This record gives sequence, C-alpha cells and structure tokens, in this order.
Amino acid sequence: MSDVQFAALHRALHHATEYLAGLDGRPVHATADLDSLRVRLGGNVPEFGTDPAQVIDDLVTATAGGHLGCAGGRFYAWVIGGGLESAVAADWLTSTWDQNAALYACGPAAAVVEEVAGAWLKDLLGLPTETSFAFTTGCQLAHFTCLAAARHAVLGRGGWDVNADGLFGAPAVRVLVSDQRHASVDRAVRFLGFGDRSVVPVTTDAAGRIVPTAFARALDDNTGPMIVVLDAADLNIGAFDSFGELIPAARATGAWVHIDGAFGLMARASRTKRTLTAGVELADSWATDGHKWLNVPFDCGLAFVRDRAAHRASMTVSASYIAAEKLARDQIDWNPEWSRRGRGFAVYAALRELGRHGLEELIDRSCVHARKLVDEIGRMVGVEILWEPCLNQGLLRFLDPRPGATDPDHDVRTDQVIEAVNRSGEAFFSGTTWRGRRAMRVSVVNWRTTENDVQRAVAAVAAVLR
Ligand SMILES: *Cc1c(COP(=O)(O)O)cnc(C)c1O
Repeated sequence: MSDVQFAALHRALHHATEYLAGLDGRPVHATADLDSLRVRLGGNVPEFGTDPAQVIDDLVTATAGGHLGCAGGRFYAWVIGGGLESAVAADWLTSTWDQNAALYACGPAAAVVEEVAGAWLKDLLGLPTETSFAFTTGCQLAHFTCLAAARHAVLGRGGWDVNADGLFGAPAVRVLVSDQRHASVDRAVRFLGFGDRSVVPVTTDAAGRIVPTAFARALDDNTGPMIVVLDAADLNIGAFDSFGELIPAARATGAWVHIDGAFGLMARASRTKRTLTAGVELADSWATDGHKWLNVPFDCGLAFVRDRAAHRASMTVSASYIAAEKLARDQIDWNPEWSRRGRGFAVYAALRELGRHGLEELIDRSCVHARKLVDEIGRMVGVEILWEPCLNQGLLRFLDPRPGATDPDHDVRTDQVIEAVNRSGEAFFSGTTWRGRRAMRVSVVNWRTTENDVQRAVAAVAAVLR
C-alpha cells in the first residue's frame, strides 16, 4: 500500500489538472479505437486487489486517448456542455461526502442545497414562483417527471386516478408535439405508457416553429385529455415555438403544456435572448439541463412544474422506514429516483461561480461564437449556410464542386468534410439531416470556448476545403 494518505485522491487531482491543462494541445477526437480500449481495459476478473493509487494511475493510462475533448473549447458537436471549475470540484466533493440525496434525513445539506439552487434557477429562468422542481439525470428524465405530473393532472380532471387505477381502461391521452421534437419526448411518452400512437406531430414552418393553423386544427381534432409539448429551442436550429399564441390556445382546451428547453430555456438568463422565449412562462411544466449550457458536469437535468400538487402526487411515496421531514424538502417527493446523487452541490457551485451576470455573459458569448463560426465558414467557397444562428445553433452544408453535382452528392461531401475536420483534431462537429439535407451542426455551449478556439475551427475547415 502507498504510504501517502489518500494517495488515490491525490493522484486523481494530479491527473485531472494534467488533463485539463492539456486540452488545448490534444486532438479533440478520440485517438484510441474500440479494439485498443477493449484490450487495454479488458482481461479476466482480477483475482487480487490493487493499491488504490495504482488503480487510478492504471485507469488513466488505459483510457488515454479514449476521451472526446468535450471538456474543452473546440467541441461543437451535438449539445454537450463542459464543466465549470467549481462545478467539477463540487462534483468531486459530492462523491466524497457520498450523501444519499433521497431524503433530508439522509443528507441535510444535500437537501437544502437543492432547495436553494432550485429557487435560484426559477428566478434566473423567470418561472412562476409557485413552481416545484426536481434535479434529475438529464432532460430525458426531466421530461418523464414533468409528463408524469401532466398525466396525473389531465386524467385527474376527468375523474381518473392514474396512481390507483393505472392506464388500463383510462381515456386515451393524446400528446401533441412539434415535428422537430427531440426523440427524448417520444421516449418519455413511451415510458409513461401512452405508446407511440398517442403522439400527434404538428407541422412546422421553414423557421422550425409549429404552424399555428395546423396547431389549432390538431387541438380541434383531439378531444379528450391532451398534453402539448413545445420546443424552447429545437436541437438543429434552436427554434422557439410561438408560445404567446400557442400556450393560451392549448390551455383553453384543458391541455397541459410542457416545454422541452434542454438548452434553450437558458436563453431566459440573457436579457437580449429572453425575447426569443416570450410567453414560455405560461406553460405548465419545463424541462432543461444543468449539464448542457449551465456547464455542470454530467449528469444533471432539471424539471419544473407549475402545479406542485400534481408533481408531488405523481412522485411521492410512503414507507414505514422513510423518515419524512415535515419542514425540510425531501427530494423523493419530487424525483423518480429513490437513492440518488446529491446533484444540487454542482449546480449551486456553478450558479455561484457565474452569478446572474456571468450566466448571461456565458449565454451571450456562446451565441456570438456560434454566429462567427457559421459566418466565417459560410463565407468560404463551396459552403452553404442552411441556418444562421439566432441563438447558439447553426447549420452548414458543403457542396460537391463537380459540375452537375446533385443533392445526394452534397450530402456525401458534407459528411466527408465533417469527418476530415474531426480527423484534424483541431475541432469536432457532428452532422444531422435537416429538411431532407445533410448538414454540419455548429453548437456552442461550452464556457471554455474562446475566440481563439473559433479561429482554430475556422482554419481547420479552410484547410480541409483546400
Ligand atoms: C439534449 C436534448 C434533450 C435530451 O437531454 P438529455 O439531457 O440528454 O436527456 C432533449 N431535448 C433537446 C432539445 C436536447 O437538446
């Protein structure tokens, strides 16, 4: 055994700072392939134990090159987000303290820090004061949590007690969604027992927003209990539905309105971007992520529900061995998990590190970087801008220069350029099919992205096109 006390923890600190300090100099893509990772990490079950510090050193060696550089500023794929320094450090302490954040009684500070961070987030996002919340693993489980409350409420209005009677024999619930929705919405609907056939996609316009006349028709066509899911920034272009118009129309029919705001809800924290979200506060529930634009390490999702009674009723549970606190907030009353990580510490740290102004600055800065990436790459010969960012998401398409090249040729060219840029190690992008055409997504959510990172990405694309 090592003679230094807590040697494994010291090794972890050493490796972590080395890793972060090296981000700018390493390729963004993973350099270790599947086979080598399996060989390095695999083997038989160890028969005998290993010194903890050695385990950590070995883990770092065996996984070297097997990490994407998404902690750094040159990663623009999907919508991933980094980790603010205090949030990462708070996350280490969360593991150290190892509280079971199910109940106040199991971890008093973990419960109170969530209570405070939840209230701060409601303030920053401009959500109604009566709103309840839950810290989940991600937006996927935030959808599940919010839509469980919705299910309870819309069936309850018709006199159906879903907790007692389940869904067998219940009135059919319809879920109106955007045709641009994220697939996590469909999965939440499936988890809740509604089934894929209860999902009614509504047409969007060229700017990715639900068409109000199509929405009105869908509302008319579906009597019975209804849930509506609108986008506060869709994943491809960051489109916001017309909340001010759609939400009152939906609520007038008795529908519950839920918002997918995985990253886009954070636009509420910026005075200049908040106008994009006008009316979103009229909804019944909102799902967003801590691990995307707030730059809290994985995993952290955030669910907010206006009807706290429906939220609590759909999640709470009682058992003789639960030490329920009458005054404190027990997370188990609001979350689908039982034993769980104290997710509040990292969120609390991130919000303190940023403050209201820092969060606004992060949002605005990301949008500026996204716009610059799209404009500068879009200006190159053979590049078409499919979507100029109005928030932090843009789309670019690379055209096959051969005479007579067709759309499928441009699709192939686009994927080839993305792959070549990623192979350069200078930047990392992902692709998508948007309105039938392949495109490179430009997504900026990481606090570490600088103007220099943007220029490196631009230069990498220019080099590939030459
Ligand atoms: C990322 C994302 C989700 C899913 O969020 P997770 O945190 O990965 O569960 C849902 N909707 C949108 C728009 C997203 O970008």
